[in-house]
Amino acid sequence: MPLMTTKPMFDLAYDGGFAIGAFNVNNMELAQAIVEACAAEKSPLILQISKGARKYAKMGYLKHIIDAAVEEYPWLPIAIHLDHGDTVDLVKTCVADGFTSVMLDGSHHPYEENVKITAEAVKAAHAAGVVVEAELGMLGGIEEDVVGMDAHEYEKNVEKFLTDPQQARDYWKRTGIDSLAVAIGTSHGAYKFKHESKLAFNRIEQIMETCPGLPLVMHGSSSVPEEFINLVNKYGGKMPNAKGVPEAQINEAVTKYGVCKVNIDTDLRLAMTAKIREVFATKPAEFDPRNYLGPAREAITGMVRRKLQANVLNCAGKAEAVIAQWKKLGSPLPAFYTGK
Ligand SMILES: [Zn+2]
Repeated sequence: MPLMTTKPMFDLAYDGGFAIGAFNVNNMELAQAIVEACAAEKSPLILQISKGARKYAKMGYLKHIIDAAVEEYPWLPIAIHLDHGDTVDLVKTCVADGFTSVMLDGSHHPYEENVKITAEAVKAAHAAGVVVEAELGMLGGIEEDVVGMDAHEYEKNVEKFLTDPQQARDYWKRTGIDSLAVAIGTSHGAYKFKHESKLAFNRIEQIMETCPGLPLVMHGSSSVPEEFINLVNKYGGKMPNAKGVPEAQINEAVTKYGVCKVNIDTDLRLAMTAKIREVFATKPAEFDPRNYLGPAREAITGMVRRKLQANVLNCAGKAEAVIAQWKKLGSPLPAFYTGK
């Protein structure tokens, strides 16, 4: 039953020239679309659940939706990850709920406090066989539950918010984290840049040097494709000047600089919204939710498949190798997981 931690995935992604896509789940259609896309592309995946998603859908519902996905594709390597956990208590709750991976985001705390709560979260998670992602440095953009700053202000002063390579090493050694989300110029949300996106690739390189073997994670990595923004705006939406990280830059970070996990949420929201708007605008008499949520689900599947290709995450076709790595590690399952 390949519900697993991210370890077998990152073991291969680290120098394999691909990254695992981490996609946010808030409801059934999103979960189905993501899993179907990854199954079609034979790609390992991370389903991430934020504090906001837990509140919106209720954890019991999300858990059973995910269990259904795992049952439908038992050969597919899936990790269940807490996105932006803000307290050690939330981490512990998620560990008890069956997550295989958690993020403790203490990046908005003073450094020593971040070290302290991260180490505490690592201790609790590792005791249950669950892996921990943490964050150092600061991202721009403002999203649910995530403390940030206006993306355009961030863009102007980005140098001083980037992850410090020496501090990253100290943080890693003192906390025992399994992966690190780095600030390299990305922002959360759909309005990441006023000017052109420019990622600090040399910063990734420096962190890889001070922290050899530590998988790096990119947040705020949606590309906000223009054709979807145009669709939203064409059908009555209002998203002027939305801009993301071009897929070619994501691909460079992944294939050339070794980033192991890429978080994508905004682009799925965009695909869903564009399609629902289109149905509403072109079929104004439609009122059966299946007839707009169904096409929206298909649009999300298309968006996820697009991300898995060689020119973005290069993750398609990697499921089998990840399963083999998982077996090589002794098929570890988190301690809580009783599986079928
Ligand atoms: Zn994030």
